[in-house]
Amino acid sequence: MSEAKIIDGKAFAGGMREQVAAAVADLKAKNSITPNLTVVLVGEDPASLVYIRNKSKQTEAVGMKSITHHLPAKTSEEDLLALIARLNADETCNGILVQLPLPKNIDDQRVLESIDSDKDVDGFHLINVGRLWTGARSMAPCTPYGCLLVLKDTIGELTGLRALVLGRSNIVGKPMAALLLEQHCTVTMAHSRTRDVSERCCEADILVAAVGQPEFVRGDWIKPGATVIDVGINRIEAPELGVYNDGTPRTRIVGDVAFEEVKAVAGAITPVPGGVGPMTIACLLRNTVIAAAHQLGIETPEL
Ligand code: NDP
Repeated sequence: MSEAKIIDGKAFAGGMREQVAAAVADLKAKNSITPNLTVVLVGEDPASLVYIRNKSKQTEAVGMKSITHHLPAKTSEEDLLALIARLNADETCNGILVQLPLPKNIDDQRVLESIDSDKDVDGFHLINVGRLWTGARSMAPCTPYGCLLVLKDTIGELTGLRALVLGRSNIVGKPMAALLLEQHCTVTMAHSRTRDVSERCCEADILVAAVGQPEFVRGDWIKPGATVIDVGINRIEAPELGVYNDGTPRTRIVGDVAFEEVKAVAGAITPVPGGVGPMTIACLLRNTVIAAAHQLGIETPEL
């Protein structure tokens, strides 16, 4: 049997950013507005700093306005809620993203629910979660929505396929299941209490892995020809790459799927890095343009 097609998430995300840039140019020309994405970061989490820098660069690259509020780690929940209230009321702000994780003294859920649901470009507000599960127009969370676009591009029609979603978090697993259900897949969700994970995987035409466990999904768990989407981002020690100056082993990023093993059985697979990751920001930009159009009361661009 031939090896799996490697899905190029970077190229796919590039195409999507071009479409977003065209929609932004259209909004500027016809409605004289520049969509604005405002990111709020509290504290100095190193991974979050990298993410928001990337988000800001890509937001500007598609012609949108990027604003970042970087607040000190000791910011109170009250002050953060006051900032969000100001952004909710600010007509020039179309999308609000609060970078998670927040410091421990702040209640994530209270903050996410304080965002105007029409500006909630992450799709985490309870109103958007409810809309997603009831099939209403919603702001779909970026990572699972990116996975869905990749699946549709790779497979085409998804109706009737068996999909297994490995992981049940609110940001990936659950919304992924809702999106696949909406596409008429037969969806199974597995998690840490699932007794027969490998058997469930073997039945799946589509497998989405979002467990946060390095190389968890093995080659002999895969139905031949299945499409495998690896959401995981795990940093592991890689002594084969040598050591850093302080003598500690170098590290590398791997997904939740044992790539080489699974590649030999699957029909298509996303690599890590370069698969799902680039799609997440592209979908965030898409959500911001759609939010801006919706707030103007004009037709939502086809993206
Ligand atoms: P969470 O830790 O919130 O959830 C992990 C899920 O996996 C839980 O539902 C958990 O089950 C399940 N799980 C953990 N261990 C096992 C196991 N041994 N067998 C079966 N299920 C298991 O993670 P996230 O959903 O936030 O993220 C998942 C991965 O995706 C991470 O590697 C993260 O870094 C990556 N990620 C990547 C993004 C991207 O842009 N590419 C964006 C977001 C996340 P239970 O509920 O029972 O505890």
